[in-house]
Formats: sequence, structure tokens, C-alpha cells
Amino acid sequence: MEKLITLPYPDNGLEPVISAQTISFHHGNHLQTYVNNLNNALPNSGLENLPLTEIVKQSTGAIFNNAGQTLNHNLYFLQFKSPTENNSPQGKIASLIDTQYGNFDQLKKQFTQQSTTLFGSGWVWLSLTKDNKLEISQEPNAQNPITRGNTPLLTIDIWEHAYYLDYQNKRAEYINNFWKIINWDVINSRIA
Ligand code: MN
Repeated sequence: MEKLITLPYPDNGLEPVISAQTISFHHGNHLQTYVNNLNNALPNSGLENLPLTEIVKQSTGAIFNNAGQTLNHNLYFLQFKSPTENNSPQGKIASLIDTQYGNFDQLKKQFTQQSTTLFGSGWVWLSLTKDNKLEISQEPNAQNPITRGNTPLLTIDIWEHAYYLDYQNKRAEYINNFWKIINWDVINSRIA
């Protein structure tokens, strides 16, 4: 049985980047529904005793969709903290970014480009490949680069429910503000 994660901040803790109303619906309703659907589908699937990451890697169909969305949202919500201007990466992730992209602005530019152009519902991920290279990818629906053996580090939810109450059709503004609430200590903790 999966459980709804507890957020490490209050519903209004990410304002004004993401409103309390969005967090309340997104975590308390959307994510809760994925968790419930997963728990309803798991019994007798042969996957019910596996950790969530393994369920995502080994499942298809409705179980994959709900397990993927549960994992994706867990990683999304747990990577945030209260907003700060000029919030920038530190430590291991900063070194990887500088080595591979030259600087944080270049990484942001490429990640933003992928996020603004993703067609339909999905996610944009920053992940680490098996040979320790950063990779930015557009993933449709419930997909996660963990299914290719990558380690997921950072993600933006591009499903409209993630930003529509706060930004309506202004997706670029949501993406631009997203960088202010990234907890880079959490991102570093995801690097093996
Ligand atoms: Mn979502």
C-alpha cells in the first residue's frame, strides 16, 4: 500500500510561486487519487510487495499510470522550499551542471525550452544517466526516465492542473518562477 506523502511545508509555503489553493488541490486531490487508484489496482498484481520505484519499472497500463504519477508527484513536491530570489544550485549538482552545461543559466535555458514546448500533459526531467551524465528529457503522461535506468533528480509538472489556477495559459511564467522554489539540498541527496 502506498501512502500520500506529507509535505515538508504548509500549503501556503510556496507562495507566491505556487498558491495554497493549487497545493491543496494538487496534493490533496490529484495525488491522493493516483495513490488510491494504485492501491485499488495492486492487490493480486504480483507487484504489491515491491517498492514504488520497482512497481514503476515493472508495470504497464493502469498500474504504471498510477504508480508513475505517484512517484512523479512525490519527487516533484518533495523538491520544493519557500521561494528565494537568485536561488541557485550548490555542491555536487552545481559541479555537474557547470561541467556539462558551462553554467546554471545554460541548463535553465535548455530545461525551460523543453518545458515550454512539451505538447500535451507530461513532465520535463533532469536525470542522471548510468554513466553520470545529466540529461534533460520530455516525458509524456506518467513517464519517468527511471524506466530507462536513469536516476531522476528534478522535475516540472506540465499537466495543466499544476499551474492553471495560478498562471492560466502563461506556462512560461510558471516555469520561470519554478526555479525560485527548488531545494538544491534535496536534489543533491538524489545523486547516488
Ligand atoms: Mn500533477
